[in-house]
Amino acid sequence: MNITLLKQLNGKLKAFAIVLLLGATTLACQENKELKEETNTVEASATEATAVVDKRPAPEFFVVPAEMAQKRVWICENNTADIFHVKHDCPVLIECKGKGTFRNMTLARAIEDYDRYNCQTCAKDLDFIYDEDAVRMETGLGQQ
Ligand SMILES: [Zn+2]
Repeated sequence: MNITLLKQLNGKLKAFAIVLLLGATTLACQENKELKEETNTVEASATEATAVVDKRPAPEFFVVPAEMAQKRVWICENNTADIFHVKHDCPVLIECKGKGTFRNMTLARAIEDYDRYNCQTCAKDLDFIYDEDAVRMETGLGQQ
């Protein structure tokens, strides 16, 4: 075999290899970019999902003092609301307008049947209902 031909062939092979390598790198870059974009889309929709459905599970612990059980409260019935309101004009409750149904019921029913928590805007002082460590007089229940 002619040595010059072998050298030429080698040169061509090298060039070919370089082109292949470049092509592969470019492809890899593109793939990475596409992958990144896809991940971004997934993250975005995940955030959207949590923004829409942020309803908490039913309260695990609550004690409704007997004298408060018949107190009237308001709730917004939709897919996301998980609180009750003691004020019918609470700004959080008013946001329900056009998005859900207003309902008026007893405090006991709102918690037991509708799994509601106290609104932090108008019913913050009812936090103790869900506080397992709150100090309660043992004879307090049912007494005025
Ligand atoms: Zn409220």
